[in-house]
Amino acid sequence: MQYHLNGFQSGDPSVARAAAVAPHKDAVDVLIVGCGPAGLTLATQLAAFSDVTTMITERKSGPLELGQADGLACRSVEMFEAFGFAEKVLKESYWVNEVGFWRPDATGGGLTRVDRIQDVADDLSEMPHVILNQARVHDFYLEQMRNAARPILPVYGHEMVDVCKTDDPEYPVIATFQSVDGENETRKVRAKYVVGCDGARSAVRRAMGHALKGEAARQLWGVMDVLAVTDFPDIRLKAAIQSVAHGSILIIPREGGYLVRMYIELDALHGDERAADRNVTPEMLIAKATKILAPYTLEVKEVAWWSAYEIGQRVCDTFDDVTSDVRGTQMPRMFIAGDACHTHSPKAGQGMNVSMADTFNLGWKLAAVLRGQSVPALLETYSEERQAKAKELIEFDKDMARLFSAKPRGASEAEQFQSYFKKHGRYTAGVETRYAPSMLTDTGTHAALATGYKSGMRFHSAPVIRLGDAKPMHLGHVLKADGRWRLIGFAGSGDEGQAGSAIEILCSFLAKGPIARFTPQGADIDSVLDLRVVFQGAHQKMKIEALPNLLLPRKGRYGLIDYEKAFCPDLKNGPDIFDHRGIDRAKGALLIVRPDQYVSKVLPLSDFEGITAFFDGLMLPV
Ligand code: FAD
Repeated sequence: MQYHLNGFQSGDPSVARAAAVAPHKDAVDVLIVGCGPAGLTLATQLAAFSDVTTMITERKSGPLELGQADGLACRSVEMFEAFGFAEKVLKESYWVNEVGFWRPDATGGGLTRVDRIQDVADDLSEMPHVILNQARVHDFYLEQMRNAARPILPVYGHEMVDVCKTDDPEYPVIATFQSVDGENETRKVRAKYVVGCDGARSAVRRAMGHALKGEAARQLWGVMDVLAVTDFPDIRLKAAIQSVAHGSILIIPREGGYLVRMYIELDALHGDERAADRNVTPEMLIAKATKILAPYTLEVKEVAWWSAYEIGQRVCDTFDDVTSDVRGTQMPRMFIAGDACHTHSPKAGQGMNVSMADTFNLGWKLAAVLRGQSVPALLETYSEERQAKAKELIEFDKDMARLFSAKPRGASEAEQFQSYFKKHGRYTAGVETRYAPSMLTDTGTHAALATGYKSGMRFHSAPVIRLGDAKPMHLGHVLKADGRWRLIGFAGSGDEGQAGSAIEILCSFLAKGPIARFTPQGADIDSVLDLRVVFQGAHQKMKIEALPNLLLPRKGRYGLIDYEKAFCPDLKNGPDIFDHRGIDRAKGALLIVRPDQYVSKVLPLSDFEGITAFFDGLMLPV
């Protein structure tokens, strides 16, 4: 973490010293409806920009306290690192290291563990798969928003009842809210953009004329968080249990060492029946769980939270307000994200993760357009990228849900679920997302230069040593959620940034070319395009003083030198980053990485035309 750039500051460095912004404005850049994971991720991202005004509203009277989702995929924890609160999550959460699979034993009267597997494959991510109450995730976001460059406080107790477009060229969307405190007070908020993060029954989606399409699976599920005494041995492991006659249960150990979540399969719903019609009670859930777990015992001492719900795997055709007949000529002004545009079962643990990923994708794009850095067409890529992802997820989820609920008729059928689970570990970890070629993603022309980095996929971190202070660290952790594009250079062999080397020539091109073209007057040289370089030699042998100026940039009001741009491989601990990520050691490579950590392009270090064409296609000169 870097601080003191513009003068010494005492106190907590993670707290920016901006004046708190009154939440009760009537015209804002971005209006977010809903304080779930999608809305809070978006608000936190936008709070990083002191020149963007954001309002986030919620119909509930205060923050979530209990229940809902709890699974956090590796990719989400990587994102939390970018927001600056991964360490808190890692400290508080349960880590899913292994998974047990149980099914009926040969006698049919008991249960036997048939497999116990590693949950996250080696080198899938530097972050684990963890479990933490959704409410705590919300708390971390809220804290981050309060302490940000442009602090944001949610407006609670306000239900959005209507939203529509107007002729106002500056604030073309207007939303109407009703207070839910009994006063029935109505207020209107004008906005440049509105994002509906308002859950599965989204009013924003309805106003946009969209519908969730797909099958309502009509399967009823119960979930409960319990403190219980049991002799089931895998109670502190994630465990999938399929019984002969009573259905299935998924055990998710929770944070704190004692709490356990149980997902319990109930019956199929028929006709127009809703979950509420079944009058499910916690006692029914306990009775069912006890039957599935038999002959092991289950003595529930306390039910901390429970719910019964039906699952439908559904998705909207588009996640913005542009209809297909005017796409390309009209730019989006309204968006939907998270459960508002896709719903799925909790068994693959994707709901909260995918919702946050939606708005991590959208946030930097909105900021770039609002701040005049990028062309508005950038906003079209949100629906393109995230709708495709949601559709793919629905297919995955259907298979997973079907296999989980199937009554195994023999060992081979039961094994199908385990092998599916193993095969799709990368997918559930959230690291398999690959965006299709677009203005942001190239087709992989130079993929051979860095085989471990695919255009359209997230930047996969690896250990490095920071040259300036010899700190062992993860390279990916320099990719903060601050709206900046990163150029990650991997130097070819023998290149130490000396005069005439490929890195030195690249630095001089970038400084005179794209950096000069897109960086506002007076702003730090790395505030829009931030170059980091990994050299191949041992850090003790490198001469930091010989690096090009762009890798020792002078910043802030005192012109202090930033020593955190150059890295070397970690040569002590096995294969280095060049081997781990398949970098061409002779030629090196350059990666263009988006503000949300996805690789846009892999290029030769000398492909200046490619770099120019890419940024000219989406950014606006100052
Ligand atoms: P949500 O978390 O639904 O947030 C939407 C927010 O918008 C809510 O706070 C809502 O009050 C607010 N809102 C809605 N309409 C308006 C309006 N008109 N005006 C203002 N505010 C509005 N997932 C799992 O993986 N496991 C589970 O066990 C699980 N249990 C769940 C139980 C419940 C009761 C619910 C609702 C969801 C559950 N989920 C579970 C799903 C998971 O929580 C969601 O996938 C995830 O929260 C989606 O995030 P989101 O931000 O898109 O929407």
